Amino acid sequence: MNAITVAERAAHDIAAHLHPFTNLATHPQVGPLVITRGDGIFVEDDQGRRYLEAMSGLWCASLGFSNARLARAGSEALHGLPYYHTFNGRSNPAAIALAEKLLTLAPVPMSKVFFANSGSEANDSAVKLVWYYHNAIGKPAKKKIIARKNAYHGVTVAAASLSGLVPNHRDFDLPIDRILHVECPHHYRFAEAGESEEAFATRLADALEQRILAEGPDTVAAFIAEPVMGAGGVLVPPATYFEKVQAVLRKYEVLLIADEVICGYCRTGEMFGSNTFGLQPDILTSAKALSSGYAAISAVMVNEKVHAAVAANSGKIGTFGHGFTYSGHPVAAAIALETLQVYEDDNILAHVQSLAPRFQRGLQRHASRAHVGEVRGVGLIGAIELSADPAKRTPFDPALKAGARLAELALAQGLIVRAMGDAVAFCPPLIITAEQIDEMFARFDRAFELFEASL
Ligand code: PLP
Repeated sequence: MNAITVAERAAHDIAAHLHPFTNLATHPQVGPLVITRGDGIFVEDDQGRRYLEAMSGLWCASLGFSNARLARAGSEALHGLPYYHTFNGRSNPAAIALAEKLLTLAPVPMSKVFFANSGSEANDSAVKLVWYYHNAIGKPAKKKIIARKNAYHGVTVAAASLSGLVPNHRDFDLPIDRILHVECPHHYRFAEAGESEEAFATRLADALEQRILAEGPDTVAAFIAEPVMGAGGVLVPPATYFEKVQAVLRKYEVLLIADEVICGYCRTGEMFGSNTFGLQPDILTSAKALSSGYAAISAVMVNEKVHAAVAANSGKIGTFGHGFTYSGHPVAAAIALETLQVYEDDNILAHVQSLAPRFQRGLQRHASRAHVGEVRGVGLIGAIELSADPAKRTPFDPALKAGARLAELALAQGLIVRAMGDAVAFCPPLIITAEQIDEMFARFDRAFELFEASL
């Protein structure tokens, strides 16, 4: 495929490639955007166009697209031990070191780390651990898991069921049973007129309690939450929300799963979103920035309460019958370990903390625009929600595809952002500099002016 032209490559893509999260009916007319290289926070397509990647790909390439240390770590691992498994007590040095390292970073005391290959698999594993745990402690009826509308937890059968977004369920015959969805904590969209963030949080926590009581506390096993809801539109929790929700969970012995797949590893200005928002999870799932997206790896941390029961039960059965061929893959684990080392050596957390105010100010500058309803964010993640009439909080007619239109205009300005309905998200690589933040918003400004002119 060396001498292939751009048009030929596009034709091959259309002929052979089934794209995730793509309109498959229109893809043959639209064609692919083929990215061929990366350089810091920029990527380049096969026509030589350069884009500032303000989404870190899919919220993951935290160290940008050309980190030499990660490439070297992967290469050395491939030359040393390209594969071995972790079933039947087998292990490898990188997986051991990574598990140990993650326990030192955990926001609350955690006991063990289970490895998988994606955020979805991590969340599916968390669901299975919750079910297994409750059988182990003699509460086989306590199995329901509560998630939230607009949550995104992945696409495998259980993870897609946890997700609270229509396209993840519709015509896939999901969600499966025993998974429930409660209200989305988006103050701007769902608060009543004049309701403060605190009062809204109280109302949602009360509603959660009523739901647990209605279902029967003996049937409710766990609650899963992203500290900041990512794909739902970068929804930052209202003040006091997690404090009040966790009080309810504790009252009815409902486990908390923190889905840190986006928030984990410095994104919100702390190592985990759980640190930023005071979550005390029993189970914590992470992926993405764990390896800066350079290798497919995810981690599920469990506390000793969960681990002890699971371990005892596996002793009864003779094995813990769960795990993947690539759990603790030595190449992925080596890349993840090096990623965590780069975070430390390059003071990435301090860098995020120092740049977050500039990034958030850059977002907030758009709050006064005629078609912006809300600007929200924390650390180096945020979103601008468009509105046809901000005073009345009226969304645009979905047929206008306002968010997608703005994202397309940004692309033409050499800027990759992501539209989720009327919200346009920013989640740049954590290595972004102050000047690059300014450049990112300068490109966005140009796109926004064209967007407004087009209305
Ligand atoms: N959880 C959250 C919060 C996510 O944002 C994602 C992916 O974007 C997932 C889980 C699923 O991860 P993956 O696509 O690696 O399966």
